Amino acid sequence: MRQPLVAGNWKMNGSLDSIRTLVDGIKAGLGEVKSAAVCVCPPYVYIPQVVEMLDGTVVAVGGQDVSDQEAGAFTGEVSGTMLKDVGCRYVIVGHSERRSIYGESDEFTARKFAAARRFGLTPILCVGELLEEREKGITDEVVARQLDAVIELEGIAALADAVIAYEPVWAIGTGKTASPEQAQEVHAFIRQKLAGLDAGVAEKVQILYGGSVKAANAAELFGMADIDGGLIGGASLSADEFLAICRAPDAV
Ligand code: PEP
Repeated sequence: MRQPLVAGNWKMNGSLDSIRTLVDGIKAGLGEVKSAAVCVCPPYVYIPQVVEMLDGTVVAVGGQDVSDQEAGAFTGEVSGTMLKDVGCRYVIVGHSERRSIYGESDEFTARKFAAARRFGLTPILCVGELLEEREKGITDEVVARQLDAVIELEGIAALADAVIAYEPVWAIGTGKTASPEQAQEVHAFIRQKLAGLDAGVAEKVQILYGGSVKAANAAELFGMADIDGGLIGGASLSADEFLAICRAPDAV
């Protein structure tokens, strides 16, 4: 039985003040969250503040990205050791904004995935197709290629302790959610693909859905057989909305 996970990706939003308010709001409602594990991914500079505020709660903290390098002359980069050092448990790798805006390839993403694991972080590996790829009918091919880059570098066993987030790019920040059936179809494809290599890994890996998840649609999405929670962008910036999403697995 996989525990559902709800992870909030705050992206490049917030200030010392607004983040304090957001975290206070999340802490106030945590007692009502029964079954989901919860994680928040603040911008790098606010991570220590958020870790301190969430100390003693069940909420884990994650980075939004990680360097593929360990240390040295890599201006602007933040390593997995640093994220671990300041109290992170998770890190998002291969978010579609990294892939599309910053041109990060499948291979580069795979190296970040490897770096995250090497330094004791749980990677949340984002995969997903563009609208034109869905329209061409190549969603499975795209997602398989993104997964294969990681499997080739790290081996299938590396996914057993990782999290995969299926995020159709056309649904991220657009208000257009994949229907529960559309999402389930790709989640099932991912699990079957992994099962072809290692049934145990396929059974264990948490596969989150991301793309305009909100309180109003979370329970229906999380109720699908292969959807183990969500990676939440915009809706994670409101404590009430985020908490309602965190409670959604309790209704399933
Ligand atoms: C995301 O950034 O991973 C995401 C899913 O964003 P949103 O929920 O805003 O679509």
